[in-house]
Parts: sequence; C-alpha cells; structure tokens
Amino acid sequence: MKKIALEEHFVTPDLVGYGAGTSAIAQPKAWADASRRLLDFTEERIPEMDAYGLDMEVLSLNSPGIQAEKDAATAVAKASTVNDFLAGLIAEHPTRFSGFAALPLQDPRAAADELERAVTQLGLKGGLINAHTNGTYLDDPTFRVVWERAEGLDVPLYLHPANGVDTAHVLSGHPELIGPMWSWGIDTSTHALRLIFGGVFDDFPQAKLLLGHMGEGLPFVLWRMDSRWNFHNHHGVELARERPSDYLRENLYITTSGVDSSAPLLCALLALGADHILFGTDYPFESISEACQFLDVAPISEADREKISFRNAETLLRLSEIVPA
Ligand code: MN
Repeated sequence: MKKIALEEHFVTPDLVGYGAGTSAIAQPKAWADASRRLLDFTEERIPEMDAYGLDMEVLSLNSPGIQAEKDAATAVAKASTVNDFLAGLIAEHPTRFSGFAALPLQDPRAAADELERAVTQLGLKGGLINAHTNGTYLDDPTFRVVWERAEGLDVPLYLHPANGVDTAHVLSGHPELIGPMWSWGIDTSTHALRLIFGGVFDDFPQAKLLLGHMGEGLPFVLWRMDSRWNFHNHHGVELARERPSDYLRENLYITTSGVDSSAPLLCALLALGADHILFGTDYPFESISEACQFLDVAPISEADREKISFRNAETLLRLSEIVPA
C-alpha cells in the first residue's frame, strides 16, 4: 500500500549548530548515527524508503531548527535559504520528497510572508514549527498574522517538540525524563491546548494544526477535559464551541510519527476518527522499517489503513497530482 510519511527530518550543514542543545538527550552513538542520516537524502534515506515501501517523505528541518535562532533578521534569512534548499531537493526528487517550510517566527509578519512564498512559489505544503520561539508560543497575539495566512492558504501548521524554555519543577533532579521520552510530549500537548483556550481556532475556525507522536497524548484525554471544563473556573476564558474536544476533533490532525504501537493508534482512531490521522516515521530517530511494518499489520480496517497510509495526506497536502498511484 502506498505510504506518505509526514514527520521526516533533515538538516543542512549550515544549520547543524541549532541542534547542539539537543544532543545531550541522546546516547552519543545514537546521536552520531542520527546526525549522519539527517544530512543524507540519497545514500541511505531513499534506499531505506525503497526497501520498506515508503513512497514519499514530507521533509522538515530537524528540531529545534530556526526556532533556536535569537536574532530575527538571521532567522528570516536562514529560513528563506533552507526553504529554497528544500524546494531544490524536491525538484530533483518530485515523487519521493515534499516538504514543510521553516518559519522565522522571530519576525511574525516575515514568517507569514515566508509561509506564503514557500507555499505559492516553492510548492511546500505548510509550515513546521519546533515548540516555542524565544519563549513565545503560537497563541501569542503577535502570531495571529501567521494563523490568518495559513488559514487563507489552506495549509496546516505542524507543531513539533523541542526543549522547553525552562525545566518544570516536577522534572528537577530527573534529567532522564527531559526529551522525547516524556517532557517534550507534555510541553507540546500543553502548547496545543494554549491554542484552543487562547482563541486561535475561534479566530480562525478553518485553521489546521498537525501534531506528531500520535497526538502527544491528547486523544486519551478528550472526555475528561470536556467533563472538567464544565466544572472548572474558566477564569474569564470562554470558547465559541461547546466543548474543548470539539476543537481537538475538528482543527487537529495527528501523525503516527515515533509511535509504532497499536494501543495508542486505536485510541486515536476512536477519539479523533480515521480522517484526522496520518502516517509518519520520525526518521531518523525511529526506523522506517518498523513504522511501515507497524502500519501494514495494525488491527484496523483496510479503509482506515488507506486513509492513514496516504489518502489523508493527499487530501490535506493536496499531493495526489504528484505521487504516482
Ligand atoms: Mn520528530
């Protein structure tokens, strides 16, 4: 079955330095192996895609990417350069690679303009943002211009984890919990909830948010969130829709990236429905082979498997015209 994967990372030699702060979360050999693969497209990546039946990778700059840049003008310049590089790579391999733009949110209007340029001129399929940008989250009013542009272009914004601004007190003394094993998921799911309760989807009802890692735990909590929202002091925050889950079911799309396990997939299917789940591997941090084999045998209907493997990606990213059947 055709497969299109949406959380597939790369880096360029110029931008390797942004990832230095993340290296401590991995074992040295694993980090060295991933670092080599991030820079590669044709020596290891495409042969591995071929070996396990992965037709297309929608590429994104590895975390934390442009979000790690402190200087706005530098961020604007480097985002433009890397998006041009990505478009050139896709032009060389139009049936194997697509991409999400890096966005220089250090300058929100420039980020919106870069998203529009990337989509309309470079053919990229949306933007991927790695957590906070210098401590600012995507519900910040200054980023409404980016959401407005994304909704207008009808492209998703993919929110990917990175190290948090600070270390939550509950993690103190437990650095082994910091990173993708635990803290990144909490950080990213909380960031997504800021968007809902911060009114982003009330202002832009058609905006589309992508989360990786089977939804960063959110599919598991819909019922309790709705129930407790009815009990909680809202502190002046009101939602246009009746329940918090209405936003998670309508505006949220998730990928299977980095989670090759049936139990959370079945939970996500029941919670969000098959139309809002897409495939991803989290290459090179997880293996293409394991992700593809997981999806091939997951205990779901063939109709749902098709949607998750490629149909939803073709629809959401308007890819069908370039991926051969
Ligand atoms: Mn990832």
